[in-house]
Amino acid sequence: MSHLLHTAIKDIQKDMYFGTEVLNRVSFLREDNEFIAKSIFHPSTRFIFFNRQQPLVYRDYGGTKLAILTNGNDQVNIDELTPGKHNKLGYIGNTQFFANGLIDKISNWESILTTWCEDNKNHAKNLRGEGKPVFLFMGLLDESIGLDLKSLKSETEAENCTEDQYLDHQGRYQGIAYYAVDVTRDYNLSDQLVELVNKSINEKEKTGKSPQENGIYYTHSRKHFLQFEHKDASLYSHGAMFFNWLKTNKFCPGCGHPTIPIHAGGKLVCTNEETLPPVDKSEPKFVCPVKKAPVSNVSFPRTDMAIISIITNRDRSKILLSLGKRHASAKMYSCTAGFMEPSETVEVATKREIWEETGVNCEEIQIVMTQPWPFPQNLMIGCIGVVDFNGKNELIHLDHDNELLDARWFDTEFVRKLVYSDEVDSNDDFNPEGIMIPIPESIAFTLIKLCVDEESNKHKL
Ligand SMILES: [Zn+2]
Repeated sequence: MSHLLHTAIKDIQKDMYFGTEVLNRVSFLREDNEFIAKSIFHPSTRFIFFNRQQPLVYRDYGGTKLAILTNGNDQVNIDELTPGKHNKLGYIGNTQFFANGLIDKISNWESILTTWCEDNKNHAKNLRGEGKPVFLFMGLLDESIGLDLKSLKSETEAENCTEDQYLDHQGRYQGIAYYAVDVTRDYNLSDQLVELVNKSINEKEKTGKSPQENGIYYTHSRKHFLQFEHKDASLYSHGAMFFNWLKTNKFCPGCGHPTIPIHAGGKLVCTNEETLPPVDKSEPKFVCPVKKAPVSNVSFPRTDMAIISIITNRDRSKILLSLGKRHASAKMYSCTAGFMEPSETVEVATKREIWEETGVNCEEIQIVMTQPWPFPQNLMIGCIGVVDFNGKNELIHLDHDNELLDARWFDTEFVRKLVYSDEVDSNDDFNPEGIMIPIPESIAFTLIKLCVDEESNKHKL
């Protein structure tokens, strides 16, 4: 792999849409009841809200943003942050919240937290009972992610500061805790949150608009999901994928009894306590076969692996793009993709998908990058598939699995103009068919662009 290619991939990997590292997940703290109890009530803790996997958003001048709320009233406000400048949270983005704290403004918020905290600690059977919100500990915004702890420390110690600005757990873990909350079954809370965000915006803007006018709702729009600022996109993806897993795994696969999400939403356990009649003096055995299995999580948070590949030749002068049935009307040509099968390597799965869909034989597969894709819970594994042209390998046949309407080898020069369309002379009628490629937030676009850039770099060397 060339040095230039390596650098480009490293940069892409750092800021992959839906996959930017926004929080230190400190996953081992999910089962630490002392930490969970402290963080859930802490004034600095941030919450994002979902209703049926749809996140609560509001419209801002810069677009649609996640409504991120805090427990306390006196926390660092988005208005104090200057884009590109040093600030108290270390970076901008995913810091949107309002000066109205949940504990003061939502009448039963504190009792909701108390109930959940007890249920979570005791593994209560009705942890996700009727009308109860489901909580998920997402992680800590800490120095490893760029939090400016020093400045928050001095803020906390300032005389006029009434609230701690960050959480300190045993002097070892310091930062701002983030939780996602699924309010689907608490209609009252769901509505109160919309009202609270609306009131906060109206107070700030000195207006009297309705929530609709302020663009406040639980959005299901794919357009919004794909236009979030990168850090919001990652927080959304993180919460939506976990809640989709929790929603679709309500019953134990071993015995059919209800499951509950313990460890602050990170682990599912079966509620069946029934034991088999004792034999001799051995330990009582549970009727449920997975209750006390060596790995007792009845279902791990689910990620479905899919491979996606850009197909090219060795000198990158040709790129194969294909048109799926779903994208026929938009004429959107894209990379080849498909789900992995059990006991398949990524490389073998990629070769198989390429052959099944396009008939082309790939000689070499390079895994280059991955992207979480929360529709509903995929991990896209991005590869480059290299085809050595020999009169046979490159021949396209679409009739193996009949998934595609068309697949073509394009000159890289043509694809470059699609990628860098804003640099093309408006008189250049290079694309009479109106062929489109995927949006820049997708890994498909990133792979296409990578291949095009590699070809240009080859000319520069
Ligand atoms: Zn069970």
